[in-house]
Amino acid sequence: MSSDSLDRRISDAREQLIELTQALIRLPTINPPGKGYADICELLAAFLKPYGFAVEWVRATGALGDSDKYPRWNLIARHEGKYAGDCVHFNSHTDVVAVGEGWTVDPFAGVVKDDRVYGRGACDMKGGLAASMIAAVSFIAEHPDYCGAIEISGTCDEESGGFGGVAYLAEQGWFDPSRVQHVIIPEPLNKERICLGHRGVLWAEIETHGHIAHGSMPFLGDCAVRHMGAVIEAFEDTLIPRLQSRRTAMPVVPDGARQSTLNINSIHGGLDEPEVGYTGMPAALVPDRCRMVIDRRFLIEEDLAEVRAELHDILENVKQDREKFSFSVRELFSVLPTMTEKDAPIVSAVGDAIRQKTGLEPEYVVSPGTYDQKHIDRIGRLHNCIAYGPGILDLAHQPDEYVGIQDMIVAAQVMGRSLQTLLLRNATEETT
Ligand SMILES: [Zn+2]
Repeated sequence: MSSDSLDRRISDAREQLIELTQALIRLPTINPPGKGYADICELLAAFLKPYGFAVEWVRATGALGDSDKYPRWNLIARHEGKYAGDCVHFNSHTDVVAVGEGWTVDPFAGVVKDDRVYGRGACDMKGGLAASMIAAVSFIAEHPDYCGAIEISGTCDEESGGFGGVAYLAEQGWFDPSRVQHVIIPEPLNKERICLGHRGVLWAEIETHGHIAHGSMPFLGDCAVRHMGAVIEAFEDTLIPRLQSRRTAMPVVPDGARQSTLNINSIHGGLDEPEVGYTGMPAALVPDRCRMVIDRRFLIEEDLAEVRAELHDILENVKQDREKFSFSVRELFSVLPTMTEKDAPIVSAVGDAIRQKTGLEPEYVVSPGTYDQKHIDRIGRLHNCIAYGPGILDLAHQPDEYVGIQDMIVAAQVMGRSLQTLLLRNATEETT
């Protein structure tokens, strides 16, 4: 049976999978600032070319963060099958977050112990990238006459919004549904889970305006911080309870995120923080402005225009109670919620493969935060996209991050079986 034979081929590639994961971890592609993107593209190209992949280098020239010191390089590798058919694309981000404190192993050595590979980016998401590469090359070796095409991309900057990575590529047409039909993003979501999408985001900066005066005579000024206090009170009394009661049909994990949420990221009013080493006293001033950055996460049942209007209404209400209150809102960033249909071809193919491989019913989840699916969905207009990959999400960005070797093998086998479903003619006969 060809599925068993492909499974075997993938488990036989265990050493190659470990070495590839280690090699990826040993390139410290820390973002920000975005180091070593060309090096990691070089590694991907060197691995994939001998298997017949054609590679294209794309620098996101002029994108946020791109500079000659830290160029935003992306790599897209494509392998053509023997016959016409769909293209399945595996997209992984190549960047990792800063190391932080608390490591007991070298974060960039790719240490192997207890059937795990350790390192920054091991689970998020170099292990997933390696698993998808092994799945693809094993599938090609097993089925050289397959239909369609397989693409593997290594893209930068996911950890900082993806503007120099997937967003740029989507704008250039790389995720156009006429050239790519199915996308798997091997983010670390546990090997029995399919992530269908994510909640929406609205980031905004609210500024309250006042009037500067001497601090000994506050009645001659108008304190912008007190106005902001009134805004927070309105959030506490009205907005936050309302959001907590707004539950969603989206299967968001963890359960606490299965509703609308609001976070106050930062607040600043009055004099700037003094420079380190300044030993003098502050000046006596009534602050004339106060700024707050909010992070509002919203649901597929909500509309972005309504989310904006709701915020505006709360601020207008504060105004009714406070004679001199005035405000402005500057939108920083917004992303619409997205959720791929459960009966979409990619969801069915990966779901069946999980059932066959693990004997478990796949768990369908939605991410509380966004990832690169947002750009594929919104800019690329490709809605047949999921996140599926090895590793435990909770370990992402933590010290002593690791990916389980057996998890990578099972995830690669699930990916391989999904390719059989999507890219083999008479797939049902061949895979049963
Ligand atoms: Zn990630």
